[in-house]
Amino acid sequence: MLKLFRYMMKPYWSAVLLVLLFTFFQALSELYLPTLMADIVNVGIVKGDTSFIWRVGGFMLAVAAGGMICSIAASYLASKSASGFGKILRGRVFSHVENFTLQEFDKVGTASLITRTTNDITQVQQVTIMILRMMALAPMMCIGGIIMAVSRDPGLTVVLVAALPVLALAIFIIARKGIPLFKAIQIKIDSLSRVMREGLTGIRVIRSFNRTEHEKARFNDANEDLTQTAIKVNKIMGAMMPVMMLVMNFATLAIVWFGGHRINEGHMMVGDLMAFLQYAMMIMFSLIMVSVMFVMIPRAQASAVRINEVLDMMPEIKDPEEAHQISARKGYIEFDDVTFYYPGAEEPAVSNISFCAGPGEITAIIGGTGSGKSTLISLIPRFYEVSSGRILVDDTDIRDMKQEDLRAKIGFVPQKALLFTGSIADNIRYGKEDATDEEVKHAAEVAQAADFISAMEGGYEAEISQGGGNVSGGQKQRLSIARALVRRPEVYVFDDSFSALDFKTDAKLRAALKEETTESTVLIVAQRVSTVMDADRIIVLDQGRIAGIGTHEELMENSEVYREIVSSQLSEEEIA
Ligand code: ADP
Ligand code: MG
Repeated sequence: MLKLFRYMMKPYWSAVLLVLLFTFFQALSELYLPTLMADIVNVGIVKGDTSFIWRVGGFMLAVAAGGMICSIAASYLASKSASGFGKILRGRVFSHVENFTLQEFDKVGTASLITRTTNDITQVQQVTIMILRMMALAPMMCIGGIIMAVSRDPGLTVVLVAALPVLALAIFIIARKGIPLFKAIQIKIDSLSRVMREGLTGIRVIRSFNRTEHEKARFNDANEDLTQTAIKVNKIMGAMMPVMMLVMNFATLAIVWFGGHRINEGHMMVGDLMAFLQYAMMIMFSLIMVSVMFVMIPRAQASAVRINEVLDMMPEIKDPEEAHQISARKGYIEFDDVTFYYPGAEEPAVSNISFCAGPGEITAIIGGTGSGKSTLISLIPRFYEVSSGRILVDDTDIRDMKQEDLRAKIGFVPQKALLFTGSIADNIRYGKEDATDEEVKHAAEVAQAADFISAMEGGYEAEISQGGGNVSGGQKQRLSIARALVRRPEVYVFDDSFSALDFKTDAKLRAALKEETTESTVLIVAQRVSTVMDADRIIVLDQGRIAGIGTHEELMENSEVYREIVSSQLSEEEIA
């Protein structure tokens, strides 16, 4: 957790110092009050001496008010710096995560990343307030209290010497039982939010397969698990207070008992006994404060570790120290014996891939599901790092280019079309921020999206709801194609982007695309033979390997796998 605090130090260190200062004055005033009172009681007030009462009483009020003001100021500043710290930390984590490659996302998981940036940081933030307030106050009250108590009556401190170890032992036992449970709770919150997330994003699938009950049961299990652990923790923590009150009350009893005897014998004054009682309370309360901190800190520590895990995770794909100059060639792609393993996988997802593609050419990739098509093209924008071989874009190894330069060349349409909350125009402009209205319109027309956009209420200003819920799958695909088109990149990559389109729209779109992309390199991943038939080069993938490469006619002659695909689809169409 200390490691995280360095983020707070820069803008808030003066506030933190002020908190300490105010806390110090607060402690002074609280320590001074019982002494004041004891002196008054010891001296004794003569009946009718109103001016004395006003004078002394006014002074006590002033001291108390001063202490209160200091306490309020300290609390305010502590909350302010802790919230600011939380804000800085959230910003840090978010911008750090934005740099992650897909490899890191696979490792941590989206649900866990979300809990880490929200719940875990809140946890640390809350404890920071407590630390700022109590860490300083508790030792001051404890040490100050002991000094004052001893100065009042050294004899009675024996009672404290007996009571404090009992208190410390109780705290120790409780903390040892509670701390592991707090760590477990954090992990259980993670799994709960994972189940929750799947249940919400997958609601269509769950409904259609009638798995609602199953999902409910899964959620209940996770929920119950979390609840039981939380109950256990609270039981233990619940035991803490009564035990401490018991010890404190017995200590009070003993102090009054022995104090009474000492007063009887004339060793002690009544005021001193009253002051001593209050100091004893302060000392024990400060111990309780410390114990609460001992419980809270490990809990926040568990959160801090999880946050640090994210912050320490360095993206495995880095920009080279010296980026190559971008060469004059535009849009040449060459795969040179590329093999790629997903992290931890035993089998390569794609292996020994070699081919070239140039501007003005359409290269199609076809193959069954799971044959590695998406994997192959996700290597081009360097979402993943190749395991062996190399990929050249414009004669430069992509590892020698800045990722930004590389991706600026590419218009990528992912298999799963994703839209952002905002208007349709905003979504298309995501490809090129400064696109004019004409460019946006043109891109939409080429992507065959113009018709349904103008049919929508508001046209280009129509709002897309979260995750693109208010447009159909095919419409989503066309919008994400328009988003890539507006960029006018050197290389177009379409990952199965025509699958949700009907045959007619598919054909129209490809005809329009062909005119648009005469100077660009186009890579199309597709399932349908009709989509790839007129490509300049077709790559047939089978279990991550190239099973054939050539034009439709060449492949029909040479490739068994391709013929199988073609015949399976033709019969399908004939049936339909
Ligand atoms: P296609 O797009 O041809 O349907 P993919 O390229 O998506 O196939 O997947 C190829 C293989 O790689 C599959 O067997 C799949 O199990 C594996 N795979 C895909 N994505 C990942 C991932 N993120 N982590 C590990 N393995 C993956
Ligand atoms: Mg795919």
